[in-house]
Amino acid sequence: MLACPICASSDTVKNGCIHTGKQRFKCHDCGRQFVEQPTQKVIDQATRELIDRLLLERISLAGIARAAQVSQQWLQTYGNEKYAKVPRQVPVTPKKRGD
Ligand SMILES: [Zn+2]
Repeated sequence: MLACPICASSDTVKNGCIHTGKQRFKCHDCGRQFVEQPTQKVIDQATRELIDRLLLERISLAGIARAAQVSQQWLQTYGNEKYAKVPRQVPVTPKKRGD
C-alpha cells in the first residue's frame, strides 16, 4: 500500500476516487486523505521565497525548477501570477490645468 505523505505510515487504505478519477487513500495513523502523485503539490513558503530570489537572477525557468524541486508547469504559473501583481510603471502625465 502507498505510504502516507504526511506521516510516512504504510497503514493506508484505498478510499474511493477523486473527481479526476485518481485513487484516493486514507491514512489510518494520522487520518489524512491523499491521492497518489497529487497534481497540485503544495509549495511551502521557504521554497517560494527561494524561487522569488532565483527569479531575479538570470537563470532559466528549467534551472530554477530543478534547483527548487518544483515542476516547470507550476513555476510558470507562479511566475505569471507574480508578474501580474507587480504594478506596471506607467509614466504619469501631469494634467493640464484650465485650457
Ligand atoms: Zn498518515
